[in-house]
Amino acid sequence: MRWRTVCFDLDNTLFSHEDAFEKAICYCFEKLQEQWLQENRIESPIDVAMWFKTFKKYSDLHWNQFETRKITAQTYRRLRYHDTMKEFQMPYSDKEADAFHAQYYDIVDSFSEPFEGLDELMNELKERNVKVGIITNGGVDTQYRKIEKIGLSSFINNDQIFVSDELGVAKPNREIFDLALRKLGVTNEKLFIGDSWEHDVCGAIDAGWDAIYLNTRKQPASTDHEPVATYTKLTQVLNLIKNDQTMKG
Ligand SMILES: [Mg+2]
Repeated sequence: MRWRTVCFDLDNTLFSHEDAFEKAICYCFEKLQEQWLQENRIESPIDVAMWFKTFKKYSDLHWNQFETRKITAQTYRRLRYHDTMKEFQMPYSDKEADAFHAQYYDIVDSFSEPFEGLDELMNELKERNVKVGIITNGGVDTQYRKIEKIGLSSFINNDQIFVSDELGVAKPNREIFDLALRKLGVTNEKLFIGDSWEHDVCGAIDAGWDAIYLNTRKQPASTDHEPVATYTKLTQVLNLIKNDQTMKG
């Protein structure tokens, strides 16, 4: 048998975080704009799609500073919000930036839709008696709610879910991969599947796992690590598992 344990990243691996992010941010901005129009804080509404495009531009612009830990998550969120509001000559305060993002985190899970093939993939793994888990970087409540929303609760119990904020260690640190293995009770023949080259592919390979690069955002590889496969769709993972006779349990 090739792999006895298969763990997954969550965002952009099992569902499109990009889509959920856009829909949830647009929803929050629409609500905010309605309120401001009522309160006469702004004179006329602006195009939500245009506003989001700018918000996304500043999200991407400041992301690197956050990822390399030059700024905190809160500063990152305030910066992208501030720069966007400034560009549209709309009111800004830190307090409002924080409230905007608090609302976003409250509702983003409701916009999460599973990638095609997710249910079938989970059923295949179950049939083959493969241990399954999720290792994800992020906030505890938000990540658990997303898992439930995309219908994974019937396949995966809470003790198979490893969230960085809950454990105090995040990918690509190998500690989180080791911890997951200890909790799942297995140590060999393990595969990790994720969309982040650095966090998922490098992290897993450096921790001694096989890795599949599920490149849903079409990002180039940045090191010479060697995943067992590179795909762009979850259905391709499903096909690999389906056709892998060595994985028959
Ligand atoms: Mg991801």
